[in-house]
Amino acid sequence: MKCPYCSHSETKVLDSRDSDDLTRRRRECLQCEKRFTTYERIENVELTVIKKDGKRQQFDRNKIVNGFLKACEKRPITREAIEQTVDAIEKELRQLESVEIPSKEIGELVMKYLNKLDKVAYIRFASVYREFTDLETFEKELKKLLKKEG
Ligand SMILES: [Zn+2]
Repeated sequence: MKCPYCSHSETKVLDSRDSDDLTRRRRECLQCEKRFTTYERIENVELTVIKKDGKRQQFDRNKIVNGFLKACEKRPITREAIEQTVDAIEKELRQLESVEIPSKEIGELVMKYLNKLDKVAYIRFASVYREFTDLETFEKELKKLLKKEG
């Protein structure tokens, strides 16, 4: 974050307030000591997923949504409820200290929220979780499972 007065890159945060998707920060430049306010969109933080094999991948919210859609297939769960649940997961991920998140941690959050949303969907998910390495694998495994269920 650069100072708008002198372009110095080090500032200290005096005050920080979150609204829905904006964080308002009161900052003071460490060089010229002028104060300014920034409004930072929470979405702008790029999250990285660390896969089991150590490879890094950009976080993709749609993969989680698709995972939920699959797990909730034929369940009385609206798309809206899924979107809201994924919002909550995403919010929780963005509150973590690190922007690099192990896929295992994401999987566990998905389990936690799925359990609250729908027990059947949760059991479907949990039964393939052993094999869970990333969300693509998860989707494939769920497809197989849904075929077996008919
Ligand atoms: Zn400055």
